[in-house]
Amino acid sequence: MNKVAKYIILILTVLFVSGCSSTTIDKKEKISRYFVMGEAVNSSIAKRRKIPNIPNGYEKMSIKYSAMRLDEVRRILGRPLVVTSWYRSRALNKAVGGSSTSAHRSGLAIDVMLKKGKAGKREFEKVKKKMSSYDQLIYYPYRGHLHVGFRKNRFDERQQTMMIR
Ligand SMILES: [Zn+2]
Repeated sequence: MNKVAKYIILILTVLFVSGCSSTTIDKKEKISRYFVMGEAVNSSIAKRRKIPNIPNGYEKMSIKYSAMRLDEVRRILGRPLVVTSWYRSRALNKAVGGSSTSAHRSGLAIDVMLKKGKAGKREFEKVKKKMSSYDQLIYYPYRGHLHVGFRKNRFDERQQTMMIR
C-alpha cells in the first residue's frame, strides 16, 4: 500500500471513530416533528450522579427512529408528552436498575407521563386501541407513566400490552 492510501485510511478511521463516540450532542436538534434530542438523553439521575448519557452514532439513529414512531402517541393523545426516560447509556441503565436487554439501552423505548388516576387509564386504553404498531406498551398507574417500546423492524413487534401495579 502506498503512503497516500495509508494516509487516507488513517483519516477515514479517525473520522469514523470520532463520529461514533462524539462526546457532545446538540440537545436542541429536532429529531422528529414533536421531539428534540435533549428529551432523549436528559435524565435526572444521570445529572445528579454525573453519569454520562451520550448515544453513539448508531444509537442516535435509533433514537431518531423511535422519535418518529413516538409522534404517533403524541398525535393520539393530542397533547405534549413529558418524557421521563428514553435513551440510557450502559452506566445509566445500571444505575437505574434496568435490565441489560432493555430497549432503553438502544433508545428504542420511551417512558412518558400519563394523566393521573382514571384519566391516565383512559389515555392508556386510547393509545392501545389507536396505535398502528408497537413492541410493548406497559402502563404503571402508580408511577403514572407509560413505557412505549419499539423494534427496529416494526414487523418484529409483538404488540404486547401490560399494566403493572
Ligand atoms: Zn421504560
